[in-house]
Amino acid sequence: MTAPVFRFAPSPNGELHLGHALSALTNRRMADRASGRLLLRIEDIDLTRCTPEFEAGIYRDLAWLGLAWEEPVRRQSEHFGDYEAALQRLRREELVYPAFMSRGEIRAAIVEHEAGGAKWPRDPDGAPLYPGTDKRLAESERKRRIAAGAPFAWRLDAEAAAARLESPLHWREWTDEAMTASDEIAAEPGQWGDVVIARREIPTSYHLAVVVDDALQGVSHVVRGRDLYFATSIQRLLQQILGLPVPSYFHHRLVLGPDGRKLSKSLRDTGLAALRAAGETPDTVRSRLGL
Ligand code: GLU
Repeated sequence: MTAPVFRFAPSPNGELHLGHALSALTNRRMADRASGRLLLRIEDIDLTRCTPEFEAGIYRDLAWLGLAWEEPVRRQSEHFGDYEAALQRLRREELVYPAFMSRGEIRAAIVEHEAGGAKWPRDPDGAPLYPGTDKRLAESERKRRIAAGAPFAWRLDAEAAAARLESPLHWREWTDEAMTASDEIAAEPGQWGDVVIARREIPTSYHLAVVVDDALQGVSHVVRGRDLYFATSIQRLLQQILGLPVPSYFHHRLVLGPDGRKLSKSLRDTGLAALRAAGETPDTVRSRLGL
C-alpha cells in the first residue's frame, strides 16, 4: 500500500500567522498518525502579490516551528504549463467560456436586477454570482472581441458542467483529526456559479491549480482551514470533469483574532516572525493554539 500524502500549501503573499501554524502542525500530526508523507507546496500563481521574501519567510517560520518537509518543494509558478493543459481540456469540452464583463458592468446588471425586487444570488463568500450573459455570445463575437484585445477571464460554464455529471458529487470529510470517523458531504458547486478558471494576467486560478497539483502530487489527504470548506464543492466538480482522483478532506478550526474574525496576513501581531521577535518559542505557539 502506498503511504498517505498530506500537503501544506501556503501562498507567499504575506507572513505566516498563527492560523498557518495550526494548519501546518495539524498536517504534520495527521500525517504522522497515518504514517504518511507531508509535502510543502508554494502557491505563488499571483506573481504580483507573491514575493521571494515572503517565500523565504515561510521556510524560516516552518523550520523554527520544528517542521520538516520533502524536497523539492513544488512552486506553482514553475508549472503554469500543467494548468494550461487542464484549461485547454476544459476549452475543448466547452466547459469554460470567455467572460468579458467588467466589475462595473457586473455591478450595474445586479443593481438593475435588484431594482426589480428580487435578490441577486450570492456565493458562500457573499460575492454576487457572475451574470451568465457572455455565455450566450456568438462564437464570431467572442473571436472579434478577443482579436480586438478586450480583457476577459475564462469562466466555468457551471450549467454545462452540471449537465455532464452522471451522479451527484460527494467528498469524504473526516470528523476529527484522529480520522476515526468521516461524513459524506454532498458537493454543491452550483452555489459558486461561473467561477473564474483562468485570467489573462494569471493563466490559471486558485481552484484549477489546486486540483491539478493535488492530483499530480498524489495528495490523498487535504487538511486545511474551515474557510476553504465551501470551496471544496467547486474543486470536487473540477476533479470530476478533469477525471482526477479525489482526496479525502479535513477542514480544521480557524484561529480567530481578538475581534472574533479570521486572522489575516495584515495582522502583524499574530505573525510568526513577530511572535518570535517578541520572545515566543515554538512551545508557547503550540500552547497558544491549544496543541
Ligand atoms: N494557498 C491557499 C491559502 O494560502 C491554501 C490552499 C489549500 O489548502 O487548498 O490559503
